[in-house]
Amino acid sequence: MTQLAGDCHCGAIRVILDTQRTAAELPLRACGCEFCRRQNAQYTSDAGGHAHFEAAPGSITRYRFGHESSDFLVCAECGTFVGAVSETDGGLLAVINVRGVDLPGFEGRTPEPMTYDDEAPAERSARRAGRWTPAVLVEAQSTV
Ligand SMILES: [Zn+2]
Repeated sequence: MTQLAGDCHCGAIRVILDTQRTAAELPLRACGCEFCRRQNAQYTSDAGGHAHFEAAPGSITRYRFGHESSDFLVCAECGTFVGAVSETDGGLLAVINVRGVDLPGFEGRTPEPMTYDDEAPAERSARRAGRWTPAVLVEAQSTV
């Protein structure tokens, strides 16, 4: 079991990936859509692993665009784009933005370029079910 941990620039959002693979065995993908290109995002995920997002109260901004089938998670404090989650029939699935949270073990790798433009909704769901990481997102509640 490998546990990879990262966080946003200010530390308000923490991400932990539990996986049976090493970082070197995990995929690194660059999505070709405009949002991801502008962010220079590079994603990893493991359908057999588990992702845990832990956020301080009020620290998560959810951004939706295009098909609006997933939430792009941005830190409300420091603006770091940490990853995306999608609520599916099989539960919450996630990809982690390796660059945003500075997930260790991916240094020096060139991401595989991906294009999803022509994808039908059913294909998108199947791709996410097969690749994205089962996830839990916990946003702590303010005590005041
Ligand atoms: Zn932050």
